[in-house]
Amino acid sequence: MSRISRIRGPGFIVIFGASAASGAAYRYLKPPPGAEAPLHPYNFSPYTLIDRQPVSSTSAIFTLAHTGGAGPPESVKEAWKRSVWSVQVKQPQLQIARAYTPLPQILDGGYVSEEEAGDIRLLIRQEEGGEVSTYLHCLSEGSSIELRGPNIEHELPHDIREVIFLAGGTGIAPAMQVAQALGRRTGSKMHILWANRRREECVGGINDDRTIANAAGQEGSSWWKGFFSSSQPPPEELSVDNASSQTKGVIVQELEALKERSRAATRGLHVQYYVDEEKTFIKPGDVTKRLHTEEPAEKGSRLILISGPDGFIEYWAGKKLWLEGREVQGPLGGVLATMDLEDWKVFKL
Ligand SMILES: Cc1cc2nc3c(=O)[nH]c(=O)nc-3n(C[C@H](O)[C@H](O)[C@H](O)COP(=O)(O)OP(=O)(O)OC[C@H]3O[C@@H](n4cnc5c(N)ncnc54)[C@H](O)[C@@H]3O)c2cc1C
Repeated sequence: MSRISRIRGPGFIVIFGASAASGAAYRYLKPPPGAEAPLHPYNFSPYTLIDRQPVSSTSAIFTLAHTGGAGPPESVKEAWKRSVWSVQVKQPQLQIARAYTPLPQILDGGYVSEEEAGDIRLLIRQEEGGEVSTYLHCLSEGSSIELRGPNIEHELPHDIREVIFLAGGTGIAPAMQVAQALGRRTGSKMHILWANRRREECVGGINDDRTIANAAGQEGSSWWKGFFSSSQPPPEELSVDNASSQTKGVIVQELEALKERSRAATRGLHVQYYVDEEKTFIKPGDVTKRLHTEEPAEKGSRLILISGPDGFIEYWAGKKLWLEGREVQGPLGGVLATMDLEDWKVFKL
């Protein structure tokens, strides 16, 4: 696919044949003045959109590289070790910014060069009528995008060894951050329960635990109901069985790579897929089953994380609150408040 990328500064029009080539070529151009800071928590730094990989009809992975070719700052290297973190992306015309959660770097063989490690990959869903997400989805490769960060949303305590992660939609991005951080902790274990409205977000995703009812017709109700209007198209006749025969979606492939990567040192990364249009919903029993295991655990080593749209978080753990201009956890509510959590801690992202 041929395309034209205009690189910052007058007179640079570069024609490339492939997106990977464009990513490599712009790195060797002289950095524009002021582009040295790779990422700063308060000031915006210039990045270039070097790749956009479609995930579904509404979401894509955006790969951004620092315009001056800088590698990741120490703050980002530290964040990858133990944090759920985000960056803010600016919409320059309106001068507003929104938070997005970088995906871990996943390459064959696990090798990531210093330059590529500085790239930032974001899974962004285009919200209907959403200012920043719509703006980003309209950008072409080679466009400039300004970022600042990292913002630490949650630091995984050192003694955490077991995580149950309830993810809704793009809430899978922080789950993947946690999976890569826990993958460095010997003997750790993680369960991701990922709910989507549509199968197109997780094509080919197969549950690790097949004993759970996972075909169309499973009883239960969806947290989505009541939080979204009924503007969705009618459900298609899909099931996990025919999902298995489809080519795997990008995020499914990356989850499988994370599983593979964590296999050597940990007790595993386990993923369950739930798809609203297939009538498979995360049920309280799916959580309970993973809370109460025979395996011994150190006190304070187990954590439940919830990430997704506000309605998803509220359904499982109650609302987050605003206090003195800051968003705080608020009391534990929702379905989790009715369960015997033993010594599992809960954190709403
Ligand atoms: C820490 C954090 C991490 C995040 N990570 C990600 C991520 O990795 N990927 C991702 O896709 N998102 C992520 N988000 C969400 C993201 O920050 C944005 O909220 C999202 O992209 C929508 O922003 P927007 O500007 O496009 O939409 P907005 O313009 O903010 O609108 C949001 C929705 O509200 C509707 N709306 C706007 N104004 C009104 C109104 N007055 N009345 C009724 N409805 C209205 C819009 O139509 C739209 O559907 C994250 C959020 C946080 C806080």
